[in-house]
Amino acid sequence: MKKFKTESKKLLDLMINSIYTNKEIFLRELISNASDAVDKLYFKSLTDSDVKVGKDELAIHVSFDRDARTVTVSDSGIGMTKDELEKNLGTIAHSGSLEFKTDNAEAQGDDVDIIGQFGVGFYSAFMVGKEVRVTSRAFGSDEAWCWVSDGVEGYTIEAAERSGHGTDVAIVLKDNADEENYDTYLSEWGLKNLIKKYSNYVRYPIQMECDKTRELPKPEDAGDDYKPEFEHYTETETINSMIPIWKRSKSDVTEEEYNEFYKSDFHDFADPVRTIKVHAEGALTYDALMFIPSRAPYDLYSKDFKKGLALYSSNVMIMEKCEELLPDYFNFVRGVVDSQDLQLNISRETLQHNSQLRAIAKKLEKKIKGELATMRDNDREAYEAFFEQFGRGLKYGIYTSYGMNKGELADLLLFYSAKEQKMITLDEYMAAMPEGQDSIFYAAGESVERLAKMPVVKAVMNKGYDVLLCTQDVDEFCFQAMMGYGKPAAEGEEFTEKPLKNVASGDLGLETEDEKKAAEEAAKENEGLFGAMKDALDGHVSKVGVSTRLASAEDAPACITAEGPVSLEMEKILSQMPD
Ligand code: ADP
Ligand code: MG
Repeated sequence: MKKFKTESKKLLDLMINSIYTNKEIFLRELISNASDAVDKLYFKSLTDSDVKVGKDELAIHVSFDRDARTVTVSDSGIGMTKDELEKNLGTIAHSGSLEFKTDNAEAQGDDVDIIGQFGVGFYSAFMVGKEVRVTSRAFGSDEAWCWVSDGVEGYTIEAAERSGHGTDVAIVLKDNADEENYDTYLSEWGLKNLIKKYSNYVRYPIQMECDKTRELPKPEDAGDDYKPEFEHYTETETINSMIPIWKRSKSDVTEEEYNEFYKSDFHDFADPVRTIKVHAEGALTYDALMFIPSRAPYDLYSKDFKKGLALYSSNVMIMEKCEELLPDYFNFVRGVVDSQDLQLNISRETLQHNSQLRAIAKKLEKKIKGELATMRDNDREAYEAFFEQFGRGLKYGIYTSYGMNKGELADLLLFYSAKEQKMITLDEYMAAMPEGQDSIFYAAGESVERLAKMPVVKAVMNKGYDVLLCTQDVDEFCFQAMMGYGKPAAEGEEFTEKPLKNVASGDLGLETEDEKKAAEEAAKENEGLFGAMKDALDGHVSKVGVSTRLASAEDAPACITAEGPVSLEMEKILSQMPD
């Protein structure tokens, strides 16, 4: 037996027990290696006219044996010689694939998509296996060799038999703990699931012999009491879908196909309202495919909800939900990002540098904003439906984000206009403002009907000004965080921001000089009366005075207002919310 090279024992132990958080990725790693091996053979056939490779050779097979407790990944790829087995599998952190990639960097082009690079993925097999047997026959050689190791001490290499070129990696599963997992690895559906989850877009077919049942033909002489009979048989199935839909150009894919992909991969019953495709080239090349769902998942506003886009590198899934790719306020967006340029962490479960992710995230955020703005402008009905589902999150976004984002996000908001009696944007509100109106007015409360009846709302409307009627708990906070809204009316023009004012709190500054004077006089004249009223209300109010903000005495002779930052209506809502 040969001992592992270098201080391998310790390293191997570290590798096996601490790099990966997720045992099941061993299958992803072995399939990736098989794909690389097939890729290398394919590359050979492209560059060497003597090498002919049949299409059926470019495949990967996965099988299991419940009795022997083995899972096997086979490929008919380039294979390994005895020396290569020793070099590639006997030396931890030696990547034959990285060497290949570097050696052929110029010739490779788009036709090859080597996944391996760290030279450690293979050893993940020892997370679940007590022994791993690699039987391999190099392309062009007539001898096969079998490498066997328990992943602890070392390995042996012995002559073996294999009918053609390629490699079989057989894992003998550990017989201890985690029986549940091992049941998964030793079952058709379990392996299928893992293949779909991590390796769905590996470019070569991943095949399994699958159990099937079929009804036997009814015999001609069958009597009335005939019961149908069934037989079991196996059929080779290709499990992965191979071509990542996000890598195909948008013009080649139908809306139907995008919708189907969305529904099956993101488990929704309804089509998405928008599909966003991004292809970026340059310092960082990547493809992204994002979807805006038509309705919010039931747990969107719960603590358990996890935002994020799936992250792929070279067609292999690295992370199911990469949070860094989406800001909180776009947490409802589903989709995938795929880039060969990502610098992966050695476990290939995370990235080395988040700056790459941040750069992608920034671009994607812009794209999402752009798509939503287009929908707002060109398909208002759809946008209103969208906003009803996800608007609350956008408002929270304004409330919780600083600086730049606020204005751009505010452009995406809709509020109910008391004047127009429909949802409008802040821009539309601004555009409809009559000469002389220098604030945006809003009222917050339980329902549009109640708000519309508020005397202070009526008073503002009597001046010819519109009032936004806000009924969501987050509205007032959102407006307070914004303080004002505005933008240059045209390029080069000055930035004009109008303050946002709650009609129910503070001074609106709408009264004329005369009205002001009259109010001051009335206040002076009735000082005694107001004092008596305040005393009579016995600590329930902080002040009684004259107001200029009521529509008319017939409509409402008096109103209650709050002095703090939050309106009375809002206080009511807040006090009803659970802590
Ligand atoms: P990586 O894939 O990152 O290079 P691995 O530990 O997964 O590292 O594999 C180590 C090396 O072993 C690979 O680079 C490759 O040269 C070789 N190898 C592994 N599996 C196979 C296979 N199925 N066929 C041919 N070579 C293989
Ligand atoms: Mg590998």
